[in-house]
Amino acid sequence: MEKIVLYNTLTRKKEELKPIAPPTVSMYSCGPTVYNYAHIGNLRTYVFMDELRRALKFAGYTTKSVMNITDVGHLMSDGDDGEDKMQSAARKQNKTPEEIAAVYSAAFFKDLERLNILLPEIIAKATDNIEEMIDFVKTLVELGYGYETDDGIYFDISKFDGYGKLSRCNLDEALAGARVAVNTQKRHPADFALWKKAEKNHIMQWPSPWGMGYPGWHIECSAMGKKFLGERFDIHTGGVDHIPIHHENEIAQSEALEGHKVVEMWLHGEFMLVDGGKMSKSLGNVYTIDDLMARGYSPLAFRYFCMNTHYRNKLNFTFAGLDSAKTAYDRLRAALSQSASAPSNPDALPELAKHRKNILDAVYDDLNYPLALGELWTVAKLTPCREIYELTKELDAVFGLELHLPPEKQADDDIPADVRAIADKRLAARKNKDWATSDALRAELDKLGYTVLDGKDGYEIKKK
Ligand code: AMP
Ligand code: ZN
Repeated sequence: MEKIVLYNTLTRKKEELKPIAPPTVSMYSCGPTVYNYAHIGNLRTYVFMDELRRALKFAGYTTKSVMNITDVGHLMSDGDDGEDKMQSAARKQNKTPEEIAAVYSAAFFKDLERLNILLPEIIAKATDNIEEMIDFVKTLVELGYGYETDDGIYFDISKFDGYGKLSRCNLDEALAGARVAVNTQKRHPADFALWKKAEKNHIMQWPSPWGMGYPGWHIECSAMGKKFLGERFDIHTGGVDHIPIHHENEIAQSEALEGHKVVEMWLHGEFMLVDGGKMSKSLGNVYTIDDLMARGYSPLAFRYFCMNTHYRNKLNFTFAGLDSAKTAYDRLRAALSQSASAPSNPDALPELAKHRKNILDAVYDDLNYPLALGELWTVAKLTPCREIYELTKELDAVFGLELHLPPEKQADDDIPADVRAIADKRLAARKNKDWATSDALRAELDKLGYTVLDGKDGYEIKKK
């Protein structure tokens, strides 16, 4: 197993990963609330999760990763009020929350697949784990950390010494920052809901020791982390927006329950901005992968765009920026994949080994993929040889960018798959200098009504 260094938000330092039970690395990633399509900002955070998981696997670790699917309990406001996001979407679309969850979970997993994001080993739906959440809350109440009010069970943050340690805000600041209490029965304005009692018209509710109700959003992650990873685990990931409330509350709940530290390293992905500002529906700048594809950008060009900025830096999305990323990505693929049909050159091996080491050193140093990609560009500029292709193919396990394959076709073309298949076969024949087959396949395409124009590393196909 290789040495990996990661930036721990808790200590504000880069630290060497020292798994609790090597070679396994146990890891929890906050998953989506499935009430809408994931936008490109959300997906940046999952590209970051994937960068980490791929790096760990390549370094020889076995990953045991959990990602939750929040299908209940995430309210419109982080201050424990407002409608449940799932219920609100269900009402607006005249569907059940289960139907809403099914539609948007499926869309989310499709996006992950398109982006070559490897699925965590365990996907945990909040509604499948309600019992564990109730048990968790019950224990917190028994231990004196939870108390009951008319509308739910709340966590008393003044009882937990370490409150604020992740975001480095003290209790007074947390109290000052909390909005004026709507719920006057709370002991402190910043106390948060572990369990909410359901009003009659609330669609999703479960029996509990406190009557019918539903879990708070934060308890979901604490309870599922404990269920699947145990009382201590190595890494927890999420976006930076989760540091001050969601993850602070997770730490409070889990450490109060266990009586010790639960998560060793907290890793956070910085935000994606759009045109320098926040993404918002009112500005009409919330894009999905489907939106990008409709404009002719492939999901992998977007993945490249994300990977070219370090996960701890803000990434400003603009179409001009995505254009440059797409061009660079196509060029890099074209250059590297050229080596697939190039002759072997064993003399290149020592130099390639040096580049391979530089690439992996960058990746294992807090996931410095931008530096690793820069090094890959150096490889792409070398004289093509079969060994470059082999190296690129091997390293795709860590990049997930399919750089060893010829550049992608336009995502917005409407060439039927069977016609594409013939054109791809013809490209392969050309690469093998099998001109007879290439000509025969061109004639076949012609008969089907398509012309094909040959480029340096690929082709363009058009309907006649
Ligand atoms: P949600 O579905 O709202 O819980 O968000 C899913 C994930 O996306 C969380 O880890 C958030 O931290 C993350 N996220 C939300 N907005 C952005 C953004 N603009 N850029 C990067 N990550 C984001
Ligand atoms: Zn979470």
